[in-house]
Amino acid sequence: MHTFSYVKAGSIKEAGDLLAANSDAKLLAGGMTLIPTLKARLAQPSHLIDIGGLPELSGIDAKDGKLTIGAATRHVEVSRSAVVKKAIPALAYLASQIGDPQVRNRGTIGGSLANNDPAADYPSAALSLNATIVTNKREIAADDYFQGLFSTALDAGEMIVKIVFPVPAKAAYEKFPHPASGYAMAGAFVSQSGKDVRVAITGAGPGVFRWKDAEAALGKKLAAASVEGLSVDAADLNEDMHGTKEYRANLAKVMTKRAVAKLAAPAAAAKSKGK
Ligand SMILES: Cc1cc2nc3c(=O)[nH]c(=O)nc-3n(C[C@H](O)[C@H](O)[C@H](O)COP(=O)(O)OP(=O)(O)OC[C@H]3O[C@@H](n4cnc5c(N)ncnc54)[C@H](O)[C@@H]3O)c2cc1C
Repeated sequence: MHTFSYVKAGSIKEAGDLLAANSDAKLLAGGMTLIPTLKARLAQPSHLIDIGGLPELSGIDAKDGKLTIGAATRHVEVSRSAVVKKAIPALAYLASQIGDPQVRNRGTIGGSLANNDPAADYPSAALSLNATIVTNKREIAADDYFQGLFSTALDAGEMIVKIVFPVPAKAAYEKFPHPASGYAMAGAFVSQSGKDVRVAITGAGPGVFRWKDAEAALGKKLAAASVEGLSVDAADLNEDMHGTKEYRANLAKVMTKRAVAKLAAPAAAAKSKGK
């Protein structure tokens, strides 16, 4: 058994100081990824610094066209929040589709974005909505934050404090979940702000990415037919026992079309999905 010290941080500053003083320390939020990693001996931290219950890291607030969510806010809170449902309903929907009730009751938005699993849902929302990741040291634009497989712009010892989402005019998320885990085989988050349309694809590749050809086409006409003649380049996509690169490329396109259809006519899309 690997031994470590467990510390429940009382403030952001205390957690930051503990990280700075212990280079092998790890933050513990919902533990949904970190605890299995410890059980598999894939990480052997000297300290676990529990930030899960820190009031400074939780809370949801919308004002001046921005939705701010504390890093330790759990998926279930995002999915049920009246503030999120009013500001960015697609984000509440996305949170409601993560894993299962146990995962949603423990997992946090900050843990998900710090982990940057290639099949996680939140990275697509953060990238499509051009969110700002606010840490205990600086602010990082989503375009600079995601750096591929389980990799982010976070420095060692840096902690996500909150995520600020600009409220778009419209947004929608669709994913094809892996039947066992719920993780995205492919998911597409599409948002429109002014004339800009941003399409972020998760699950299909080694990290979340923007599908810029689709963005350009949808910027001219926001309709599912606009992406009909396009295809996601399969060359760099994931291939495993669950699906080939080509299968994932097609899924990414189908999820994009579904998200656009939902975004263009939310009521009609919801009705047809229920059939
Ligand atoms: C069975 C199962 C199914 C799942 N299905 C899905 C799914 O469908 N979609 C999906 O998106 N996710 C899914 N997840 C992942 C889950 O949603 C969690 O969000 C994710 O595991 C990380 O969040 P956490 O709060 O549990 O982080 P933890 O496990 O506590 O931490 C994960 C990592 O992030 C670091 N960290 C945590 N908080 C911060 C912070 N504030 N700043 C910096 N670093 C931090 C930790 O040190 C650790 O390295 C699933 C997980 C499981 C176990």
